[in-house]
Amino acid sequence: MNVGEGETVLLDLLNTTPVVDDRPTDVLTGEWLRSHGASGRRLADVRRLRDDLQRVVRGGDPAVVLTQYLDGVTQTPAIVDGAVEWRLDADWAARVVLAWGELQASMPGRLRPCANGECHLFLLDRSRAGTARWCSMEVCGNRMKARRHYGRAKG
Ligand SMILES: [Zn+2]
Repeated sequence: MNVGEGETVLLDLLNTTPVVDDRPTDVLTGEWLRSHGASGRRLADVRRLRDDLQRVVRGGDPAVVLTQYLDGVTQTPAIVDGAVEWRLDADWAARVVLAWGELQASMPGRLRPCANGECHLFLLDRSRAGTARWCSMEVCGNRMKARRHYGRAKG
């Protein structure tokens, strides 16, 4: 899992609890694990990681709760083609948490919950101004704008 893949897996994992037809759902399955490089991991463990990450990104829990997933992570230097190269030894869960850490450092505050309180998705705001609020303009953006407009029209 490189940095870009880690970012994708992290966001996909955060977004495994969408609201479908007004009902909160959980789409984390064995198939999800297989397609995200987590074959062989226990669903319950990945779900616990997901729930912890969601609480941290929503600001409900301090980031220190993620420490447990970094146990045993090591980095070892090696000389490759005349230069020092660092090899990361970390399991899948640790790599997801490290991807979160990379984002915190490179794009602080840009990973956040959708501003629609009835939507349980997360977004990574890549806009220049950093003002994106919705998981998607098509879904939540338009819905919330329509609601505000309706509220104003009503009075
Ligand atoms: Zn949304």
